[in-house]
Amino acid sequence: MYADVGANKAATREWQQTLLLPGQASLGGCGAFDRELLQERNRSTPHEPSPSWKVRMTQTIGMQIPSLDALAEEGLHSLDVAGRPRSSKDIECWLTDMDGVLVHENQAIPGAAELIQRWVDTSKRFLVLTNNSIFTPRDLAARLRASGLEVPEENIWTSALATAQFLKDQVQSSDSGNRAYTIGEAGLTTALHEAGFILTDTDPDFVVLGETRTYSFEAITMAVRHILAGARFIATNPDATGPSKDGPMPATGAIAAMITKATGREPYIVGKPNPMMFRSAMNQIDAHSETTAMIGDRMDTDIVAGMEAGLHTVLVLSGITQREEIVSFPFRAHQVVDSVADLKSQI
Ligand SMILES: [Mg+2]
Repeated sequence: MYADVGANKAATREWQQTLLLPGQASLGGCGAFDRELLQERNRSTPHEPSPSWKVRMTQTIGMQIPSLDALAEEGLHSLDVAGRPRSSKDIECWLTDMDGVLVHENQAIPGAAELIQRWVDTSKRFLVLTNNSIFTPRDLAARLRASGLEVPEENIWTSALATAQFLKDQVQSSDSGNRAYTIGEAGLTTALHEAGFILTDTDPDFVVLGETRTYSFEAITMAVRHILAGARFIATNPDATGPSKDGPMPATGAIAAMITKATGREPYIVGKPNPMMFRSAMNQIDAHSETTAMIGDRMDTDIVAGMEAGLHTVLVLSGITQREEIVSFPFRAHQVVDSVADLKSQI
């Protein structure tokens, strides 16, 4: 958890001064005790330190801690673990959601193409994330290109890739076998195949459920029987419905619920809001949470998972979330912008 900081530069400098112990020149040299306080501060609510923290900090440094909300300044949005304000210019790696952030119903959102180009021009590492496990990165790159966005396939990270990576780690770190029964499409089967799995309908170690448009009762029956026989139940993403031009369609979460009802077993779900999705993405581009940001349009998936993975979080209002809905959540993003068009100047 990182604390929100806001307001103006002078106030931020003044606040930084209040964090210094007597005789301490900068926060970079903060001692063990105030580091512990700062870590406690970061564990408390995003906007306001807890009363007990304020008392302890005030006793330590003999000064009042001003409200963090009063310290907001553009470009200074959060604190790193040592309490230093983080600027979006410090961000080295970017993760971004796709639908509602870069595209909306197959149309590029204004500013998205320029943002991606800016990342390329400034050699920023970035990944476009999607919970959709139907398509391979190559398919998705082609779909994005048709929408007017040039995203190389190696810059796309799907819940299917994250699931395959997770299962590969499971096999390597335990004595699990590598046989998987899958319900899903090319995005999932290709990812599992490339991760070294044998796709089989006899005696699998895992049942892996992904998104598909052609669920069959026969396949679901087989999944139920494999799980009852001891196969581990894994799902790529929890989404109950997915969009289509004619309206919502049942998605992975809905089919998982059917299998759970029949087996009494809950799946382990890898996609958002599991921070596992972000951790595997960061591993892929050798990113570190201290210098990585997540852009998303959903508070209950993108922002909460980004927050739990320790990232700088950016909520865009170009997708599903309206500004007035933010107050209904007990957490906040570090930054809220109308759309990605507002981010280009910060990179
Ligand atoms: Mg989205």
